[in-house]
Amino acid sequence: MNTFDPLEAMAESRHEFGEHGGVNMCIEASTTFTVLQADTLPHIFHGEQGPKQGCYLYGRHFNPTVLTLGRQLAAMEGTEAAYATASGMSAITNTVLQICKAGDHVVVGDTIYGGTYAFFRHYLPEKTGIEVTFVPQTDLAAVEAACTERTKLLYVEGMANPTLAVADLPALADIAHACGAKLVVDNTFSPLILSPARHGADIVVHSLTKYINGASDIIAGAICASDEFIGSLMDVSHGSLMLLGPVMDPHSAFEISLRLPHLGMRMVEHSHRALVFAERLQEMGVSVVYPGLPEHPHHELLTRLANPGFGYGGIFGVDMGDADRADRFMEILQSRRFGMMAVSLGYFDTLMSASAHSTSSELSEEEQKKAGITQGLVRISVGYSGTLEQRWQQLKESVIELQNSYTAVA
Ligand SMILES: *Cc1c(COP(=O)(O)O)cnc(C)c1O
Repeated sequence: MNTFDPLEAMAESRHEFGEHGGVNMCIEASTTFTVLQADTLPHIFHGEQGPKQGCYLYGRHFNPTVLTLGRQLAAMEGTEAAYATASGMSAITNTVLQICKAGDHVVVGDTIYGGTYAFFRHYLPEKTGIEVTFVPQTDLAAVEAACTERTKLLYVEGMANPTLAVADLPALADIAHACGAKLVVDNTFSPLILSPARHGADIVVHSLTKYINGASDIIAGAICASDEFIGSLMDVSHGSLMLLGPVMDPHSAFEISLRLPHLGMRMVEHSHRALVFAERLQEMGVSVVYPGLPEHPHHELLTRLANPGFGYGGIFGVDMGDADRADRFMEILQSRRFGMMAVSLGYFDTLMSASAHSTSSELSEEEQKKAGITQGLVRISVGYSGTLEQRWQQLKESVIELQNSYTAVA
């Protein structure tokens, strides 16, 4: 039984007040911080004193406003600590570089965000000599077989981009821990729905750019983990965040923090509309990929792992058969104002992209095939603007217009 309630935990974590009693925290915009005694500085440099003792050093090290956002995100994920970064990619890459060194081995799920895939496929092995093995994350036997005593990290997405495969987190955590590796889970697609740390993940990473910020106006990321791991990232001699420096601006941290209180309501509505549209499209004979549908291979797994009340996520895929139909369908949907052709997701308006030629184009055609990404697949991130029935009319009429345009040609 899953008893963790992320909304309750997030509410408990919100106890900041502004300097003058404002209901919102103040923004700490300083890039450097003074100390009262000269001998405090060496203690901060040696990691003996830090934010817990009210000691701050420099804006590339911990910033109080960014740390407050981190505390709220840690509450959401049920981890000891968290820190926010300049992007989702910097959260992912700095986590990997903190855990692994040259000669180590990592096992990576093969259905992942295109940028993450390119990092693991090319950048990491080419620049560092860290060896990477890709496996289908749904094939637990293959994952287990890929792990060796050199494996330091197993990386998967909780709900995978763009096929919406769901990771069997407890089983993957067992496999990772049995070979002494850490399980790192990207939870960008399923905030609040999945709490990977509650199912054994050691580190949860996010692109805050998507659902968590929700307005498509800020690029940002987060790393949620133990106190010890977050501290190690900021070590002045060995910490990848401190030394590579992908800091979040405190103004961004402030803005994102103000959008967290309605994340729950937003996720509920994203999920509700995605489910209604997926069901109705399926009734019309459209091929739909959505884990909320009982036909989806991971429907039961997600039902078992998910926190109750947030649904099955705001993204579904429709397979229109070929690339030409996929493109035409998106153009019709855009002209009828159902949504916009754009990459990204988690926005209040609907965003649509053909994964094979956009966000997953870093994968070769062969690799796409293996990952289940078909040429006709359109990924739809369902927004909550307008009314549900208004949007359904636009969607339904677009399907009919597409079908008519092809029967007319044939
Ligand atoms: C967008 C995305 C990222 C990268 O995040 P940025 O904020 O764009 O750097 C990583 N993982 C997933 C699943 C994403 O959707």
